[in-house]
Amino acid sequence: MRFRLLGAAALGLVVAAPGAAPAQAAPTDSSPTARGYGGAVATVDPTATAVGIDVLRKGGNAVDAAVAAAATLGVTEPFSAGIGGGGFFVYYNAATHRVQTIDGRESGPASMTRDWFIDPADGKPYDFQEARVSGLSVGTPGTLATWDSAARKWGTKPLSQLLQPAARVAENGFPVDPTFRQQVIDNQAVFGQFDSSSDIYLPGGAPPTVGSTLRNPDLAATYRLIARKGTGVLYNGPVGRDIVRTVQHPPVSSSPIGSWAYPIRGADLRLSDLSGYRLRYPAPTRSDYRGLTVYGMTTPSSGGVAVGEALNILERTDLSSASRVQALHQYLEASALSFADRNRYVGDNTPQWKLDRLISDGWARQRACQIDPAHALTKPVPPGDLTASGCTPAKAGGKVEEGQSTTNLTVADKWGNVVEYTLTIEQTGGSGIVVPGRGFLLNNELTDFNFTGTQGDAPDPNLPGPNKRPRSSMSPTIILKDGKPYLAAGSPGGATIITTVLQVLVNRIDLGMTLPEAMAAPRASQRNTPGIQAEPAFHTQYGPELEALGHTFGPDVPELGAATAIEFGRNGRVIASAEPSRRGSGAAAVEFPR
Ligand code: GLU
Repeated sequence: MRFRLLGAAALGLVVAAPGAAPAQAAPTDSSPTARGYGGAVATVDPTATAVGIDVLRKGGNAVDAAVAAAATLGVTEPFSAGIGGGGFFVYYNAATHRVQTIDGRESGPASMTRDWFIDPADGKPYDFQEARVSGLSVGTPGTLATWDSAARKWGTKPLSQLLQPAARVAENGFPVDPTFRQQVIDNQAVFGQFDSSSDIYLPGGAPPTVGSTLRNPDLAATYRLIARKGTGVLYNGPVGRDIVRTVQHPPVSSSPIGSWAYPIRGADLRLSDLSGYRLRYPAPTRSDYRGLTVYGMTTPSSGGVAVGEALNILERTDLSSASRVQALHQYLEASALSFADRNRYVGDNTPQWKLDRLISDGWARQRACQIDPAHALTKPVPPGDLTASGCTPAKAGGKVEEGQSTTNLTVADKWGNVVEYTLTIEQTGGSGIVVPGRGFLLNNELTDFNFTGTQGDAPDPNLPGPNKRPRSSMSPTIILKDGKPYLAAGSPGGATIITTVLQVLVNRIDLGMTLPEAMAAPRASQRNTPGIQAEPAFHTQYGPELEALGHTFGPDVPELGAATAIEFGRNGRVIASAEPSRRGSGAAAVEFPR
């Protein structure tokens, strides 16, 4: 459990113009559920939630609060998020009633070739950790550009102001909790290879103790430099030059702490890659589910398409009147089918007609017809043939996985604007390399590409290429009912993000759970692999009956996802919901608690 009960005032977290006297902020606790009126914030971290709610209480809108909270997560959740990474920002604009998105995904360098992750020495793909802890894995970060763009387009305060609370947290420090310490322990061997990383995260050569204060003055200075000079310092200036130097020549320590099994390679990322980086603003994916309109993120994320396809498949069965086991059976089968299709067809620049087809009701009919209520399909199931009609499977497909890091936040304001934002540096700890003197970790997002083809004779949509963005599973989702926000949700968790978001939605919409119950319920993930990945509580509770239907379980995992969500009720009521226990529990707050 995160034990912090720090108010924004205690942390000096106020959004005041630089130089202005700080105003007092109301305290915010770290409860995973908050009910009330007005704006609301849910993140994985009480400090970030406190910053977000403080921005709202001072008159900022949901976009302002989301940016300020995300910048704070870059300090307190540095192994999951920060300006060294990327993400997807989904926004419901109450004035226009439109859902818009920002694709701030990292992109590969112009020099990236299809065999980027093939070792020229032996023609074989690098081991994952060898690729991860190297310059090869680092894509041009999109997060800072995303914050700036969101603030300019839809916010009411400039980025320079929104970075100040996070800069203060970085400078004054924050208490290390058990989750943070564990994430350092898990990365100790990697951080130990780089003085820039170990100086911050291995103080005195060891992981910081729980309750100690962790400061990151370099990051505070970087945020303040950006606030003064603009994002150009990263995309075409001194911070960018430092990024490029770090990627080309990883700053391996002459006296590392511990050993690392692999050579640490540089890669050809250039300043022109950074200065050429462009955000994209694609239309969201859209699917209808039981009278609701579900908006998600399109490519290079597979999240919107995969969640949408699975919902369309599930819509063909009345889950609310099915037994719980039958509903879960349908959920697992729909997940496997949509993963088969996602693996085969979805990558950066997938033609729009394929995405439209995958998320159509006609396609759901062709896929749903394969589900037998009495018997589980043999996994992996083949992807469907997009050009065929009827209940026709295509050639066999492969399986793909992504890492297990990332963070998610959900923010709403009293005017009805909603932000669902998932951001990441890929693995917990990213590439493990802090840019010397700048205080932030570089992503390893390019390892989200498939190193070699996974689709047999068929083309793999997710192989590396010049300026290409790796496929993501991030699934920030906003759902409207009668044209007004009803629910917003998202989660980290690599490829399990898709199933976690799907399961939370099904729990809430179909299985009669309240939002906090839907979030807390034990999770399982079927991503078209022979064994279901389940949390122990799910396996214990439903395993025997699902096994009787022919499902098999892989090794259990301690937990899946770290979701956040907000539900919008009648007369302005809101419920903000974070995890009650996963990843050390999250923090939800509302502007006017009831
Ligand atoms: N890199 C992953 C993706 O974009 C997210 C990593 C995670 O959540 O663990 O899908």
